[in-house]
Amino acid sequence: MIEIESLGANQTVRNYVGGDWIRPEASAELTTIDPATGAELATVPCSSAAAVDDAVRTGNEAFETWSSRPVEERIQPLFRLKTLLEDHQDELAELLVRDHGKTLEEARGELRRGIENVEVACGIPSMMQGGTLLNAAPEIDESAVRKPLGTFAAITPFNFPGMIPLWFLPYAVATGNSFILKPSEQNPLVAQRLFELIDEAGFPDGVVQLVNGGPDAVDALLDHDGIEGISFVGSTPIAKLVYERAAATGKRVQAQGGAKNHIVVTETADLEFAAEKTVASACACAGERCLANDVILVEESVYDEFSDLVVAEAETQTIGYGLEDGTDIGALISEEHESTVRNYVQRAIEAGATLLRDGRDVTVEGYEDGNFLGPTVFGDVTGDMVISQEEIFGPVLALDSVASVDDAIERLNESQFGNAASLFTGRGADARKFRHEADIGNIGVNVGTAAPMAFFHFGGWKDSFFGDLHAQGEDMIHFYTDKAVYIERWPDA
Ligand code: NAD
Repeated sequence: MIEIESLGANQTVRNYVGGDWIRPEASAELTTIDPATGAELATVPCSSAAAVDDAVRTGNEAFETWSSRPVEERIQPLFRLKTLLEDHQDELAELLVRDHGKTLEEARGELRRGIENVEVACGIPSMMQGGTLLNAAPEIDESAVRKPLGTFAAITPFNFPGMIPLWFLPYAVATGNSFILKPSEQNPLVAQRLFELIDEAGFPDGVVQLVNGGPDAVDALLDHDGIEGISFVGSTPIAKLVYERAAATGKRVQAQGGAKNHIVVTETADLEFAAEKTVASACACAGERCLANDVILVEESVYDEFSDLVVAEAETQTIGYGLEDGTDIGALISEEHESTVRNYVQRAIEAGATLLRDGRDVTVEGYEDGNFLGPTVFGDVTGDMVISQEEIFGPVLALDSVASVDDAIERLNESQFGNAASLFTGRGADARKFRHEADIGNIGVNVGTAAPMAFFHFGGWKDSFFGDLHAQGEDMIHFYTDKAVYIERWPDA
C-alpha cells in the first residue's frame, strides 16, 4: 500500500458564489469516501433552494456587465485557465483518482479532454460570428448575430468529474453568459479544486459559480426562473426528469442520459486488435463510462476464437489502486454501486448466460475496503437477457454470436439507447452499412471507444439524450446564444 499525503482529511466543500468561498445553507450533509481505501474524503453540505437562489441572482447581476465586455476580453481568463490546468495537471489527476477510483493514466487522459474544451472555447471570437449579406434587398444589408442570454447551469455526474464540467463551462462564459456548476455529490473535490484555479484565472465575480449538493439543489435550479438553460449529464431516468421539469419552466435543456453500447466483430477483423480494444472499452474506468461498449456481437465463424481472445485479454488486467503503478482497472465509485454490478452478474448466471471469466473473487492487498471487481466475461448472452439491455456501469462483458453484420445492426437498433457502437472489420462495405444503418450517436470503425474530440459535438440518440443541441464544440455556441437579424437601410441621401 502506498502512502498518500493527506488532503487535510475530510474537508468540507464550499460553494463559490460571487467570487467568495462560502459554506451554504444546507438541506442535508453527506460524506464522501475514497472508493479504493474507504477513507473519508469530504463533507458535502447540500445547498438549499435559498443557497441556489443566491447564486442565480449573483449570476444574473454579473451577466449585466459580462455580456457586454469585448469578446477578446472574455476569453483571456480561459487562456489563463488552460495554463493553470496544465500546470496543476498532476495534482488534479491524483485528486481525481482519490475522488473517483479510476487510474492515474485515465485521470490524466480525462483532464486532457477537459482542457481541449477550454482550448476550443478560446476560438469563440470566430465561432460565435453570424453572417452578413450586403444588398440583401435594395439598399438594404442584413446581418445575423448571436447574443448571450443570461445564467446557465450544468448538473454533472460522478464518472468524469474533471472533464464533463468543461464540456459546458468554457463555452458558456466565452459567449458572454454566467454559469453555475452543480457537480456530483459523490465526488465533489475535483470541481472544488477546479474552481480554485478558476478563481486564480481571474473571471469577474459571479460569472462562474459552484453550487454543491444533490437533488434539492437540482430541483431549485430546474424551477428557478432566473436560469436560462440547463445542461445535464447523468442516468436516463434523471435526464428525462430534468428535461421535462426544466422545459416546463421555459428553459433550454440538453440532457444526456445513460447507455448500452455494442461492439460488432466480423470475420475479416483483426481479431487480436479487436479483443484488446474490446476489453479496454468495457473495462476502462472500471466500466463506469457512458461510452463503454459491453455487448459484443461476433460473427459465428469467429465467435469461439474471439471469445478466447477476450478472456485471455481480460486475464492480463491488473485490478488495484489507481495511484499504484501497473493498475489497469481501479475501484468502483461506491459499495452500493459495486453490489448493483455484482447483482447484474448473478442475474446473468441465473438467466443462463455462460460465465467465461468470473471477476468477482478479487482482493487487492492493502485495499481490502475498496470496491473492486475484476473483468467478468459472459458468453451466449441473448438479446432478451437483462445484461444485454440495461446499463451495468461495471467491467462486465456480454458476448453473443450473430449470423451477419445485418443481424448485429438489427439487434443493436432494438436497444432503447443509442449512445455509441463500434465495428471491427476489414471490409469497407460493412463499415459503410454500419455508418448508414446503426441508430447511434457516436459510431466507431476499428476504434474501441468512439469518443469525439472537443471540436465535435458529444451526444447520443434515443434514451441516451433528450434535447437537440449536444455537448462540446459548435453545438455549445448554439445552445448558449440566441440569434437576431439586423436589417438596415442607409440611403445615400
Ligand atoms: P445520476 O443521474 O445519478 O446523477 C447525475 C446528476 O444528477 C448528479 O449531479 C446528481 O446530483 C443529480 N441527481 C441524481 N438524482 C437526482 C434526482 N432524483 N433529482 C434531481 N437530480 C438528481 O448519474 P451518475 O450516477 O452520477 O452518473 C452515471 C450516469 O451518467 C450513467 O448512466 C452514465 O451513462 C451517464 N453519463 C452519460 C454521459 C453521456 O454523455 N450520455 C456521460 C457521462 C455519464
